[in-house]
Amino acid sequence: MKKTGVIAAFLLLASQCAAIKYERPAFDRAETEAAAAAIEQAPMPVKSEAPVDELVAVADRAAQRLRDHTGPLCEAIGSETCGFALRIAGNEEANAFADEKGTIWITVALLRYLETEDEVAAMLAHEIAHRMSGHDASAATAARYYQAMRYTLGGSSPSSAASRQSASARHLIALEADADYLAAFLLKRAGYDLTAAENVWITLAKVSNNKAASIMATHPLSAERLAAWRRVAAELDADPEALPRVAGN
Ligand SMILES: [Zn+2]
Repeated sequence: MKKTGVIAAFLLLASQCAAIKYERPAFDRAETEAAAAAIEQAPMPVKSEAPVDELVAVADRAAQRLRDHTGPLCEAIGSETCGFALRIAGNEEANAFADEKGTIWITVALLRYLETEDEVAAMLAHEIAHRMSGHDASAATAARYYQAMRYTLGGSSPSSAASRQSASARHLIALEADADYLAAFLLKRAGYDLTAAENVWITLAKVSNNKAASIMATHPLSAERLAAWRRVAAELDADPEALPRVAGN
């Protein structure tokens, strides 16, 4: 009996370390270029002046709607970490992340950039997807460091160090793409509009490109992200009940 307990504890520990990966649909160069053009042509986002209570109420409502729809997805992907809490922070920096205890954090500064509940829900769903996929806190921390380094103005490193960094950057970008992928399914099931929600990725790209804002230190941003989102959105429009495809099982 005692021996069984030890084995079970070990398996639990092991499963927490393994991130769930997905077979994401491919998108082509034309789709990436269309996404880049959409980002380029979109107006610079404007911060909302809405009262904090109002922003918090929208975030709470979106979190609850998403929470009500995690069940079937968790079962489909074999996730053991589906519960989450939402905390809204008063920071002046626009950011969102999931911590290792299952709390999704989003700042009021970021909420001010999000125009609709669909966009707020997409941002939260992305963080919930990190949690559901077992992306551990050390990866999230690494992502923050990696993104902070994007704004380094100079320096050099031995080629071996550079290649290690590039491999870890690729890994982190794959985690972000996986989170976006799963988030789309969660959003669809919760009844949100994925096309309306895509504006969140455009907004983040625009604000992030504006170096005056240190927005979204935890999230790589690109036309690829929007192109991938549109591809999954199209698949879910065709089949709203579709389930995410888990890789390597
Ligand atoms: Zn992320």
